[in-house]
Amino acid sequence: MEQQPEVEVKVFDTTLRDGEQMPQLAFSVQEKLAIAAKLDELGVQVIEAGFPANGQSEVEAIRQVGREVSAQVCGIARVVPADITAAIEAGVDMVDVFCSTSPIQMEQSMRKGPDQVLAASVDAVKMVKDAGLECMFTPMDSTRTEDDFLVEVCGRTVEAGADIIGLTDTVGVGTPASVGEMVARVVAAVSCPVSIHCHDDFGLATANTVAGVLAGATMVQVCVNGLGERAGNASLEEVVMALKCLYGIDCGLDTSRLYEASRVVERISGVAVPRNKPVVGSNAFTHESGIHSAAVMRKSSTFEPGLMTPEMVGHRRRLVVGKHTGRHGIAQALTEAGLHPSGEELDQIVARVHQVADAGKRLMAMDLFAIAETVMQKVPAAKRTIVLDQLVVSTGDKMAPTASLQAFVDGEKRVEATVGVGPVDAAFRAVKSMLDGKLKVEIAEYHVDSITGGSNATVRVAVTVEDASGRRAYADAAHVDIVMASVDALITAINHLMRTNGQAESQPEGSRHDADAA
Ligand SMILES: [Zn+2]
Repeated sequence: MEQQPEVEVKVFDTTLRDGEQMPQLAFSVQEKLAIAAKLDELGVQVIEAGFPANGQSEVEAIRQVGREVSAQVCGIARVVPADITAAIEAGVDMVDVFCSTSPIQMEQSMRKGPDQVLAASVDAVKMVKDAGLECMFTPMDSTRTEDDFLVEVCGRTVEAGADIIGLTDTVGVGTPASVGEMVARVVAAVSCPVSIHCHDDFGLATANTVAGVLAGATMVQVCVNGLGERAGNASLEEVVMALKCLYGIDCGLDTSRLYEASRVVERISGVAVPRNKPVVGSNAFTHESGIHSAAVMRKSSTFEPGLMTPEMVGHRRRLVVGKHTGRHGIAQALTEAGLHPSGEELDQIVARVHQVADAGKRLMAMDLFAIAETVMQKVPAAKRTIVLDQLVVSTGDKMAPTASLQAFVDGEKRVEATVGVGPVDAAFRAVKSMLDGKLKVEIAEYHVDSITGGSNATVRVAVTVEDASGRRAYADAAHVDIVMASVDALITAINHLMRTNGQAESQPEGSRHDADAA
């Protein structure tokens, strides 16, 4: 990580603490280490690694994170000596001591009055400072705390030695205006830096965090993919990119690693990133409409923010064809790819595209070209393709899962039967054996999502394949049968790879698509 001298706002990532407090989420030590490593590569300045008072295994996990990252490591603690002792034992650089300061939380949760809260907070800060550690004091539920009391508790804890004040919108009721006013008030009253921590109950976490920065906060508290309690925390990727691209405020992160970090957290947490999630969602730079996609191919900023490119966040631009792509859009995309179908051929291509789109499958630009070339009978011999004819899978608790696959490879009928550890594995082995070793393909990623609930759900399977030279191709497919969806996606991905085999790997900006070499 290169040191950026002009870092104005630091990133305090709490994926491993507030993120982990998401219902039904718990990270193992190994998972915490894997996520912490990604955060460290990103260049996050502070990693809140957990809640040491949770027990010895949490203390050990935090200690291990601290050993393996170069970022500062923080542990959270209530204003009770046992929590602070546990944090010290966990070897953290910083302790985030928090105490409820809103009337409702002091009464219902703390069962303490304002004077007791003040005294306990001051004592806790002193204990952290006596241990020689950096101390952040967090008035929990800041946005519902009375203005005067918030300033008083911040002032008193800073006098007691707090190095940072962590203002919070714990229940997500702040607005950009109210958070901005709160931050400005506290910044004016204390001599130390102020950090801002927002929740997304009304979808305002990113906007509120940015408002906090504009009002003087110099540290943002965020989670990768916006994980966290209830609707989650402010998303690291959204806050960092909004500050960088819209306000020119650099957080010092290597943003080209954001997409990768998001995928790692998605995989480990099991919390799927919505397709339409800003910055890191799979649709963040995907275009469907024919007119839009043609314009994007010419100049990407026509229908993208322009200030943020997929390259900046390590993402990819995708062009997809679907039911919204009209005859004109399809013709335009084909013309730009050097394919000139006759009117009758175009009718057939459009009908095939809409047939596939109606069946729930997402089509990439390469699928469109494949369909067009088939209709126009233009598939050159060098561009080998697999066309599935029939698949039979048998499985059970007393037999080896077996797949029997019939397909056309370059127009030649082939039959393969293989066993595997499961039905998907058996089917994948059968597909791979059809390649005769001419193309060595490994499955780089395999991901299954249930689109609807219930055991009759439609599943979407995404497969990324990689050949011996490291070129990758991605495809996904949806089906009510998981094996069919898997094989469909695998064959599409392999076809992409074979069709682009030998083509120039670098293409002009805007014409990149899914099957490009990575
Ligand atoms: Zn929180």
